Amino acid sequence: MDLFEYQGKQYFARFDIPVSAGGVAHTVDEAVAVAEKAGYPVVVKAQVQVGGRGKAGGIKLANNADEVRTHAGNIIGMDIKGHLVKRVWVENASDIAEEYYASFTLDRAAKKHLLMLSAEGGVEIEEVAAKNPDAILLQHIDPTVGLDAAAAKAAAVKARIPEKAQQGVADILVKLYRCFTEGDCDLAEINPLILKPTGEVHALDAKVSLDGNADYRHPEWEEFAKTVELDAREQLAREKGLQYIGLDGTVGIIANGAGLAMSTLDVVNQVGGTAANFLDIGGGANADLMAGALEVINSDQKVKAIFINIFGGITRGEEVANGIVEAMKRVDLRAPIVIRLDGTNAEQGREILAGAGIPESKLTSKPTMLEAAQAAVALAK
Ligand code: GDP
Ligand code: MN
Repeated sequence: MDLFEYQGKQYFARFDIPVSAGGVAHTVDEAVAVAEKAGYPVVVKAQVQVGGRGKAGGIKLANNADEVRTHAGNIIGMDIKGHLVKRVWVENASDIAEEYYASFTLDRAAKKHLLMLSAEGGVEIEEVAAKNPDAILLQHIDPTVGLDAAAAKAAAVKARIPEKAQQGVADILVKLYRCFTEGDCDLAEINPLILKPTGEVHALDAKVSLDGNADYRHPEWEEFAKTVELDAREQLAREKGLQYIGLDGTVGIIANGAGLAMSTLDVVNQVGGTAANFLDIGGGANADLMAGALEVINSDQKVKAIFINIFGGITRGEEVANGIVEAMKRVDLRAPIVIRLDGTNAEQGREILAGAGIPESKLTSKPTMLEAAQAAVALAK
């Protein structure tokens, strides 16, 4: 789950990482109220989950209430790289002497945590990596050892952080690492990490991605989950309790089991098609689930064919078939279905489908996954 900057800063604050005082605002009036409380000058920042907000005009300095009105008025409702700005974060403006970069991620291949630290912050780190890769320190951290104060200080020195900022950077690294590990993040990034003229080091931005697998031990994440922005298809799928991920292709996919769903995506690709989604309907394939799945796929205008790939284990073929027949009565599908039904009671299931009086142009059955994929891809072209 990706957090907005303001949520990331709230998360940082729990781990004692210094951030500016501020508040979130959905309207111009709210923005002024927050600014009055924070004290001028303030920075008005668009809250969208995309970088380069500053360049896009989504970050503005305001010296008084009138300026907050103007900037908040312009920024709320703005489109930044396809993201609609619904709220701004207004915070006490900081004086900046220097801008650095710090982040922790997981290096899966190395089975270690990865610290990235650079004295060249403020710009996108990909840009630094392309132009001046030597300016970024990449350092693995053994998760069984962790990162102590001495190691953090050594990293700051190695990354050529100026001496006056080394201690402050090291302190924040230790806290950010705690946030990353105890806070169950996939990513914890500060860009820019600033040095103030007064010598303090401070997080001016926050990019945090939380590991959804750990949500059971973080009841406090519920508040963040409320603001997650799903696309319309994903929203509908969630309401129906489906494991659905929207993709860009033209073949809608329904499979039972995550492994089979992934294999189905691969096979569709292998025969030259593109998948419109990942959808695992799980063990049960009753009419309600099937209708829900078909409805979500049907709402995707790009879908030109639907590939239902079911291998019956506990799920029985006749149940699946009855579910499909019933679902097709409820949902008026725009695209034809190709089904491959195998496993427990598959024969019975195929008989039910064949006897349901559904025209061939709406539903065809194929004996293998490969043939079904080929037929679906051909229909989608
Ligand atoms: P991003 O461009 O979306 O990553 O947004 P950031 O929060 O990183 O802000 C972009 C840039 O705006 C920073 O690198 C700063 O140069 C500038 N900026 C943001 N907040 C402040 C502030 O409080 N004071 C000053 N002087 N500049 C700021
Ligand atoms: Mn930034």
